[in-house]
Amino acid sequence: MTAVKVGIIGAGSAAFSLRLVGDLCKTKGLSGSSVTLMDIDENRLMAVHALAKKFAEGLGADIKFETTTNVDDAIRDASFVVNTALVGGHSYFEKVRQISEKYGYYRGIDSQEFNMVSDYYTITNYNQIKFMHDVAKKIEKLSPKAWLLQAANPVFELTNLITRTVPINMVGICHGHHGVDHIIEKLGLDPNKVEWEVAGVNHGIWLTKFIYQGKDASPLIDELLEKEVGNFKPTDPFDDQISLVAKDMYEFYGKMPIGDTVRNGSWKYHFDLETKKKWFGEPWGGVDSELGWKWYQDRQAEIATAMQKVADYFQKNPNAKLFSKDTLDEIISQTKNEVKAELTQEIYNLLDPQRKSGEQHILLANALLNGEKVDLVLNLPNNGTISGISDDVAVEIPVYADKDGIHHYEINPPLPERIKKMYLAPRINRMEMALEAYLTGDRKVLEEFLIRDPRTKSYDQVVKVLNEILALPENKEMRDHYSKK
Ligand code: NAD
Repeated sequence: MTAVKVGIIGAGSAAFSLRLVGDLCKTKGLSGSSVTLMDIDENRLMAVHALAKKFAEGLGADIKFETTTNVDDAIRDASFVVNTALVGGHSYFEKVRQISEKYGYYRGIDSQEFNMVSDYYTITNYNQIKFMHDVAKKIEKLSPKAWLLQAANPVFELTNLITRTVPINMVGICHGHHGVDHIIEKLGLDPNKVEWEVAGVNHGIWLTKFIYQGKDASPLIDELLEKEVGNFKPTDPFDDQISLVAKDMYEFYGKMPIGDTVRNGSWKYHFDLETKKKWFGEPWGGVDSELGWKWYQDRQAEIATAMQKVADYFQKNPNAKLFSKDTLDEIISQTKNEVKAELTQEIYNLLDPQRKSGEQHILLANALLNGEKVDLVLNLPNNGTISGISDDVAVEIPVYADKDGIHHYEINPPLPERIKKMYLAPRINRMEMALEAYLTGDRKVLEEFLIRDPRTKSYDQVVKVLNEILALPENKEMRDHYSKK
C-alpha cells in the first residue's frame, strides 16, 4: 500500500474530479492518500470538496482532502499532479470564435483541418499553453519526481511542448479511445474476448487491430456501418462513432477513426452547417457545429448547477445516506424547478460506488506505485513505435504500466501509410507550427497558419483577424509575446 499526495489543478471541473476521487477511493493500494483540490473558482471548489468528502466517507475510504486556490500548494510534495484547468474558460473561446467569424473564418481560426474540436485551440490559446508550461516548470522546481498527468487540452501540443522542454515525468491523457467500447457494445461482443489496438496522435487515433475470439472482426464493423449509417439519427451531438462521417473516413483511410478523431476530419465534413449536418446527422451537425456546441455549453452550465445543488443538499443534510434512491428522489424534488431531474441524476450517478470512471489517471498511479500492471492508451514520445514519425513527437498509443514505468506495445499491424502521410503528417506539422509560434513569439508563424487556410482570401484578412484577437484585454501577455520579433 502506498499513500501519496495527488494534486488536481482545475478541480472545479466537477465531473472529472469526482471520477478521479471515486477511482482513488476504490483503489486499496492507494489508501491513506491525500488529494489537494486546486481551482481559482472558490464556489466550484467548495462544491467538489463537499461531494468528494461525502463520497469517500460513504465508501469508507481513507482519503484526506484539502482545497487551495494556490497552484504551488497542489504541486508541493505531490507524487501526481493532474492538470485539467481551462484558463479563461469557455467564454474566451466564444469571443475568439465571434471575432474570427466576422472575418470569414467559420467556427474560428483555431478550427483547422484535422483539428476541428471546439475547445482545442492552438493558435489563440497562449494563456492556456503558457499556464500549462509554467505548471510543468513549477513541478520541476517543487516536486521534481512527481508525474504530471496532462488532461487539459490541447493535449497533443502540450505533451509535445512539455516532454521536449521540461525534464519531468509527464504523459498526456485522453479518454477518446473509449470509442472502441462503443463499437464493441453496438456489436454486442463480450469486451473480455476482444483484442484491440489504436494508434495515432491525440484526437487522431485509428483502430489498427480488432480481433474477436482470435479472428479478425473488422468485417463486423463493415456490416454494422452498412446497416446503421443509412438512416443514422444521432441521439445527441456526440453520437458520431457509427455515423456517415466515420464510415467515409474509414473507407478513405482504411482504418476506423476512433473517438474524437471522427470530429477531426478534413474540410470535406466541415465547410458549413449544411455540410456538417449532411455528414454528422440532423439536427445538430455534430458537436462542433454552432448548434452542437451550444447544446454542449448549455448542458455543461446545467451540470455545474446540478453539482452545486447536490453538494448543497449534502452540506445541509450531513447524515443523508450517500447512494440511495430515497436521497436522490429527495434531491430531485427539492431542486426540480432549478435543474433538470436527469442532470441531477447524472451528477448523483458519479457517486455510485459500483461505477467505473473510464479515466486512466489512478490506474496509472497504482501501476507505477504498487506494480499492479495495467494496459492503457497514453500520449508520450513516439521513440520508434510508429515508423516514419520522429522519436520526439508525442503519439497516442497502447502501453502497459508497472513498477518499472510505462512500456510501449508494438503496433501490429502497423498504421497504413495513407494515414501517416495524409492525416498524421499535416496534423504533426501544425503542432510544430503552434510550438514554434509559442516558443519564438514570432507572429509571422501565427499568420502562416492562416495563409495556408482555405478560408483566407487575402493577407489583409489575416492581419485584421489576428490584430482584433490580440487586442482583447485578456490577451495582453500574448500581445506582448508576439510583438517581440
Ligand atoms: P471548465 O471551464 O468547466 O473547467 C475548468 C476549470 O479550470 C474551472 O473550474 C476553472 O475555474 C478552472 N481554472 C481556470 N483557470 C484556472 C487557473 N488559472 N488555475 C486553476 N484552475 C483554473 O472546463 P472543462 O470543460 O471541464 O474542460 C477543462 C479542460 O479539459 C479543457 O481543456 C478540455 O478541453 C479538457 N478536456 C479533456 C478531456 C480529456 O479526456 N483529456 C476530456 C474533456 C475535457
